[in-house]
Amino acid sequence: PPLVIGIDAGGTKTEAVLADGQGEVIARARRGGANLAAHGELEVEKTLHELIEEVLGDGPARPDVICLGIAGVDRPDDSAIIHGIMRRIGARARLLVTNDALIALVAGAGVGPGVVVIAGTGSIAYGRNARNEAARAGGWGYILADEGSGFWIGRQALRAVVRAADGRGPATALTPLVLDFFGVSRAEQLVREVYRTYLKPSDIARCARLVQQAREGGDAVAAHIASVAADELSAAVRSVVRQLELDGGFPVVMAGGAFHAVPWLQDALRARLAEASIAPAAQVHLLTTDPALGAVRLALAEARGGAS
Ligand code: BGC
Repeated sequence: PPLVIGIDAGGTKTEAVLADGQGEVIARARRGGANLAAHGELEVEKTLHELIEEVLGDGPARPDVICLGIAGVDRPDDSAIIHGIMRRIGARARLLVTNDALIALVAGAGVGPGVVVIAGTGSIAYGRNARNEAARAGGWGYILADEGSGFWIGRQALRAVVRAADGRGPATALTPLVLDFFGVSRAEQLVREVYRTYLKPSDIARCARLVQQAREGGDAVAAHIASVAADELSAAVRSVVRQLELDGGFPVVMAGGAFHAVPWLQDALRARLAEASIAPAAQVHLLTTDPALGAVRLALAEARGGAS
């Protein structure tokens, strides 16, 4: 009977699951982020190595297939890098490498048509139709895109604070929240916190929840940031739906930490998609299982020799 490993690697956390031929979970392990673009090859290699060792434990068992869904893997070149890493760490299993969006889609919507929108550390919308064509929008990483992601929301919050400090923007309840978050008392001290200690996108993404908090307290600046985030995510979904010519009943899966840090986004996105006649609210749901289980499912399909 086959043994497989499914891995979900994002900007903030990486999760590995060892499963048997029925998809029953045998072991799980968790580490920090392993986005190829943001963390670099060496750190990704270390994280993957540790995770695979940990789920396999001391037993003699070896996986037949490893499926890795990883953020920052968007071009064929990236997948070649991952294959190199896996050879170096001695993983001799058959290897499937995909973007993290595909495994989240499979975890939330199975193998049929559907769209996933990830708002994690980064963001992307990805989908496929009944003809098995795939399309994506966003997901270009934190410098080029990732609008509506945890990083983007967190950075907008930081920017709002310094705009207010300058008088270029309105006063905002984000100011005390952000200063407190960094343990400083004045906006000028943020410079040191942000530039002198090397902050990764995942560190900035941690500030996203302050936007929810300030918004709940009635802050207009925070409400605006959250609203633009919802607009951006909805535009990405809309683009994928258009590219795939999807219409009628298909699920839209929301996945990623930003939907939990700013839960308001869930309803806002549902409302925007319904208003634009993209998908009725009932078809838009939050992913409640692990994306790594989507990777397990793809790995099992590969182990059985079939396409997903
Ligand atoms: C990455 C994508 C990824 C997305 C969601 C972006 O920063 O570039 O590869 O799919 O985040 O995790």
